[in-house]
Amino acid sequence: MVHIVGAGPGAEDLITVRGLRLLKQADIVIYAGSLVNPGLLKETKQGAVIYDSAKMTLEQVMEVIEQAWKEQKEVVRLHTGDPCLYGAIREQMDAMDKLGITYDICPGVSSFCGTAAALQMEYTLPGISQSVIITRMAGRTPVPERESIRQFASHQATMVIFLSTGMLKELSKELMAGGYSPDTPAAIVYKATWKEEEKYICTVGTLAQTAKEHNITKTALMIIGEAVTHSNYA
Ligand code: SAH
Repeated sequence: MVHIVGAGPGAEDLITVRGLRLLKQADIVIYAGSLVNPGLLKETKQGAVIYDSAKMTLEQVMEVIEQAWKEQKEVVRLHTGDPCLYGAIREQMDAMDKLGITYDICPGVSSFCGTAAALQMEYTLPGISQSVIITRMAGRTPVPERESIRQFASHQATMVIFLSTGMLKELSKELMAGGYSPDTPAAIVYKATWKEEEKYICTVGTLAQTAKEHNITKTALMIIGEAVTHSNYA
């Protein structure tokens, strides 16, 4: 059996009870290096074989899974946060379906939840916003035009932006083109729930400058909208 497991946002004790049980039982663990806390690997049993998927192609990951399947071994594919967001699990499930390999999914705490906890804030505040838009700037993976930041910004809902730390100037521009004023509150949270966590309250107009001042170039989420004003750190 293959288990696709959400490792949580960073802190080792934010994996679910089920996820931890599966990890402890696994003969083989394939984890997303750099985004999954390596401390979690201490939980694996003696003799478990560990692979870092950051250094592997999908084909290589599938070879490991197929071999393990033939040997009737328990495999955990450990993903950062929750696997349903930007986890590229569909392509892995398709490949397993083709090979007739059965699998299940164990959810995890997404980094957008870890980020709200870090900021001590609620994304859905009565009278301010009752919706959360989770999205990203287009990168190697294109974003459909109807889902552009500019289009979403027009809703003035709370926005959580993934995978865009290297594009903050463009992000600000898009948010403003969509109708956010430059002084709309925003936050940048780096490595939420990790020991290295950093968080900064800024505005839509100062996102890039704030990240630059603190040397933040990756592993961050940007939170946009009036709800940020009610963070305990604002
Ligand atoms: N499935 C994951 C997201 C994977 S995409 C989840 O549910 O969180 C990887 C992106 O997630 C990173 O580029 C960054 O934007 C964000 N991210 C992951 N962990 C993070 C953390 N602890 N703090 C802030 N952002 C994080």
